[in-house]
Amino acid sequence: MRLIDLHTHTTASDGSYTPAELVSMAADAGLSAIAITDHDTVAGNAEALEAGPPCGVEVVPGVEISVNHGGPSYHVLGYFIDYEHEPLLSSLESIRRFRDERNHKIVAKLNELGMSVTLTEIDAEARGESVGRPHVAAVLLRKGYVADTQEAFDKYLAKGKPAYIDRDRLSAADGIDLIRNAGGVAVFAHPGIYGWGEPGDLRRTVAEFAEMGIVGLEAYYSEHMPEDERSILALADEFGLVVTGGTDFHGTAKPEFELGRGTGNLAVPYELLEALKDRLGNRVEA
Ligand code: AMP
Ligand code: ZN
Ligand code: FE
Ligand code: FE
Repeated sequence: MRLIDLHTHTTASDGSYTPAELVSMAADAGLSAIAITDHDTVAGNAEALEAGPPCGVEVVPGVEISVNHGGPSYHVLGYFIDYEHEPLLSSLESIRRFRDERNHKIVAKLNELGMSVTLTEIDAEARGESVGRPHVAAVLLRKGYVADTQEAFDKYLAKGKPAYIDRDRLSAADGIDLIRNAGGVAVFAHPGIYGWGEPGDLRRTVAEFAEMGIVGLEAYYSEHMPEDERSILALADEFGLVVTGGTDFHGTAKPEFELGRGTGNLAVPYELLEALKDRLGNRVEA
């Protein structure tokens, strides 16, 4: 069976391998296709697309955008975007400014808590342009304030912890439009990980996102339980959406997820990519 991984991060955001390294690792892992889905940046796509053909790996250009919807925030994946589209680039740049503002406030919180960290150190930890909490965690780790990345999130950086700062995000509708206007298709990322409160909340959110123009649900995902997969497959069927799958590979920044395999038994068939491509062809222009 030809296998793929449609959710990966590179050094352009918080992954630990460069786009070219990632493509070469995908070839070694026997994957037929991967998508590059860095947080709020498309800067890794050009290098990955160039590295693809010599390695025999099909590279799908992509992005992962954080959006707000009714309070909580969600991730939306964009595939087959034109990563040189000016409006996309300028919107992503403003989104990254929200990140920089947040990082500044996180540093202030950490300083208040008695830890000596600076924004310069955090920016230096990042190898690309999209700087986030994993880079803060790396500095805390390097300076001995925590024993590992997870402890940095659990003690300080996760939502509800003392150095957590929210940031501005696009609305879901604007995030989805951004992807569609850049020629791409939008997919609801890892719908199973959001800790849905009431039965029906997931279904309602899928219905709303479908109305806004998403074409698919990421059913196969490293942290999805079999029951998550089942309910997401049923919702895809109900709303006429395709399903996709990916690991959220970050390299050593998130060592528990292996490229193409997640925590061990993920196997995403190439046919899902073909179904996604069909949606690209059928896309109704706004
Ligand atoms: P940011 O983009 O700054 O909001 O950081 C998001 C990234 O941080 C995610 O893609 C994960 O890699 C990581 N992350 C978020 N929450 C946690 C958590 N509770 N534990 C470990 N890593 C996390
Ligand atoms: Zn990440
Ligand atoms: Fe995500
Ligand atoms: Fe991700």
